Amino acid sequence: MRQQVDVLLGAQWGDEGKGKVVDVVAPDYQVIARFQGGPNAGHTLLFEGRKHVLHTIPSGVFRPGTKNLVGNGVVIDPVIFLRELKALEEEGVDTAEAILLSRRAHLILPTHRALDAASEAEKGKSKIGSTLKGIGPTYMDKTGRNGLRVGDLERGDLRTLYDGLKRKHERLLGLYGDLPDLREAEEEWMDAVRQLERIPRVDCEHYLDEALREGRSILAEGAQGTLLDIDYGTYPFVTSSNTISAGACTGLGIPPTRIGRVIGIFKAYCTRVGSGPFPTELHDDIGERMRQAGHEFGSTTGRPRRCGWLDLPALRFAVMVNGISELAMMKADVLNDFGTIRVCTGYRVNGSLTDRMPYTLTDDVEAVYEDLPGWGDTAAGIPAELEAYILRIENAVGVPVKLVSTGPDRAQTILRAPGVTA
Ligand code: GDP
Repeated sequence: MRQQVDVLLGAQWGDEGKGKVVDVVAPDYQVIARFQGGPNAGHTLLFEGRKHVLHTIPSGVFRPGTKNLVGNGVVIDPVIFLRELKALEEEGVDTAEAILLSRRAHLILPTHRALDAASEAEKGKSKIGSTLKGIGPTYMDKTGRNGLRVGDLERGDLRTLYDGLKRKHERLLGLYGDLPDLREAEEEWMDAVRQLERIPRVDCEHYLDEALREGRSILAEGAQGTLLDIDYGTYPFVTSSNTISAGACTGLGIPPTRIGRVIGIFKAYCTRVGSGPFPTELHDDIGERMRQAGHEFGSTTGRPRRCGWLDLPALRFAVMVNGISELAMMKADVLNDFGTIRVCTGYRVNGSLTDRMPYTLTDDVEAVYEDLPGWGDTAAGIPAELEAYILRIENAVGVPVKLVSTGPDRAQTILRAPGVTA
């Protein structure tokens, strides 16, 4: 069989626990490649009692021998990237050996961050809930064909390119109000760019092609989640990139015919950060209990995450648009003390019932629930009630749940014999 690239991505609104699963499965892969997003992502890994948060660098970086490639679909803030490198180096990671950067990846400039803040402030109440890291404006410059790329750092005229883009941004910023003083940020950016020279740069499409020819195993790692996809998410409350499996092709230069398993990560419930529709959201103390039990506060922003019951139509939609071949259920332990577990099986839209994700999830979409008994405790494995809950999910979405996570640690991971086959 020809060597293929497996894809691992979020099947909900992000923060599903992708980082933990990548870290758990990393020994099976020689290359882990991030295909989209930027430093707005925050993947949290916990092992040997220590917590590590990664923003731009793939979650395989703690497994010796693994190559971690930041793909062309990712946008990079050199300052944040360098900070992340230094934290890893303090942990003893040989970053120059473990990490590779795609020359085609776009760079976030200080003025991108300023534009992000100005644009979000202008939107007032209808704000998207941006993390204000400059990611949206950087992707806009990419599609507007103005962007600066990692490969440009090798050019002698980098400063001229930088100044040209900065001037464009300053004209735009002038429309929003006074120009912020970015001199210090700019110096920091230039310094970070110089220090990034220690990380090897590659043409990622060629690198991965060669890796496939050599029979090396590759995992493409997504950030955020399916329902935040720029095309298929709850637009306009979405991120600026394609978070779905197709994004792995464009974000790494992999042909669709080379995609193998597609692993969808979901939580036993749902969360969402920032604004936007969320049909199963709980505004009561049950939601608060989930938030506290699941520590549902953003790892990048610290913002409390909105919490609610599992949404099966949304999960089925994620299975459909990604071609998910298997699922991993995270954070089952968070619901341990809940007597009754609700699961959304459909929506009532304008008086009619549907189990299909509508074009837009507006306020008129009301979640319809089924109640299942709680499972008490996951310390000793998967209790019968949890198994019944998982079977209910498998039957609704038609793909197997192969991994169940019952705690943040690597060790709290159960490989399950699925109830359905894909
Ligand atoms: P990611 O962006 O998808 O990698 O997710 P985050 O790292 O933002 O959020 C996942 C959080 O849940 C992290 O703090 C993990 O340590 C934690 N976590 C992952 N799996 C589990 C689990 O099964 N149970 C509990 N209680 N926490 C988990």
